[in-house]
Amino acid sequence: MLTETLPTEKVYKQTNNVDETNLKWFSTFKQAERAVEEFEITTLTKFNVYQKKSYDISKSGIRWDKDLIPYVIVKSVWLECQHAKDQNKKKNEKRKPCIPKQLLDHPNPAKKQMCIQGSKKCNCKAKILMQETLRFPQFQVTARSRYARNKSAVLIHKALKDEASRESMLKECACSISFPSSGDHSGHVIGEAAGFLQMVDKRIIAKIDEMVKEGICNIGEIMRGLKLFVMHELFKNDNIPSNTNRRFFPTRKDVESHFYRAFSKRKLAKMDQTNVQCLVDEWVKSGDPEDNIFFRPYIPNVVNTTNLDLTDEKTPPVIASEQTMLFVHQLHWQRKLLLRYGQDICLLDATYKTSKYALPLFFVCVKTNMNYQVVASFITQNERQIDIEEALSILKKWTPGWKPTFFMTDKCDAEIHAIETVFSDCHVLICDFHREQAWERWVKKSENGVRDSKDEVVLRHSNTANHPEIQRFVG
Ligand SMILES: [Zn+2]
Repeated sequence: MLTETLPTEKVYKQTNNVDETNLKWFSTFKQAERAVEEFEITTLTKFNVYQKKSYDISKSGIRWDKDLIPYVIVKSVWLECQHAKDQNKKKNEKRKPCIPKQLLDHPNPAKKQMCIQGSKKCNCKAKILMQETLRFPQFQVTARSRYARNKSAVLIHKALKDEASRESMLKECACSISFPSSGDHSGHVIGEAAGFLQMVDKRIIAKIDEMVKEGICNIGEIMRGLKLFVMHELFKNDNIPSNTNRRFFPTRKDVESHFYRAFSKRKLAKMDQTNVQCLVDEWVKSGDPEDNIFFRPYIPNVVNTTNLDLTDEKTPPVIASEQTMLFVHQLHWQRKLLLRYGQDICLLDATYKTSKYALPLFFVCVKTNMNYQVVASFITQNERQIDIEEALSILKKWTPGWKPTFFMTDKCDAEIHAIETVFSDCHVLICDFHREQAWERWVKKSENGVRDSKDEVVLRHSNTANHPEIQRFVG
């Protein structure tokens, strides 16, 4: 009667080399994923998903665990060692360098990037197999006989095929993992030395993104932040991985390249540029014809995309680009106010350090007969002198006859030098707030030798600056 054969599925063939006694069981897929991660950390290995498959359980073959409870496989996920054969080799070779449209007529834009580190791929065969399963404890058999198991399997298939009985069946989810042994790896180092070959963990990359969003540009500070994050958040209640494990303790170069990616992504989202262009077109079409709006989008430098100079941590980083972004905005009435009230003193106010925006935003203000008014604004891609200088030159061209005697700015060399270059006879003054802030910072530095009496020094400076006789010196 029970001569019908068990359904033989592909799944049997694909997994018949897995030793069922070596399987480790978990009650959820999430727990299994966590176990894979722990395995990677303790063995200093890294596995990547290379195949996933889901099965129609009404057709799947029935398997038996060590307690003779039947189960079927719902989903299989294969992970391979990061040093496995390169599956995408052909695709990668075929892939053409991505050149922005604007640069197609540019001479030789796609210079090949130099690859210092060789490929990680070396045909290692080590694999992890994760399987999500469904168990049927109702159909547990007591005898190991083939007859009992076949009989139970037929009943299970029958129940699975009928929707009503399938719903009412007692089902338990579980997930099995078969881990490779260290002997399964080949072609690369394993153990402590392998830590250096690890890729940076995606949570570390996310943390770098977060810190860039908070405005942290100092690589040393980011690295300290990452260390604290790994020790006090990621592995709060666990053993902290070895500090040779690059996955959690990336090198300075790793951090720099992820910082660069996050930094440029945040500053120069392509979609934003398209939106700005649409808005500018609309403003130009519907606004006063005497309004002035200038917008030039950013074009990335395809030749040198990762060359970010971070050696001087005091100056903000500059993104390598073929063309920098610039936005300058001045309405007709603003120009009239600038001409009338901006001949004596103008103010240049940079807000980027205090605002939520990643790009430097500048306001040119004048004191009118009523109050202070913004008479022009501009956004630059970088905070260098040449970027500010370019925007000021455009404003100067738009406002013939504008010759300010004084300009008040923050204590920022780029701003000061830009103004002095564009308006050669103009005197730059630093506003009281920034002057006092600069003093505060200066006296706190130990190398300046006045830290012990810093309050006294600041007070004396302040008294001198605010003395009515000071006008004699300035005048
Ligand atoms: Zn391997």
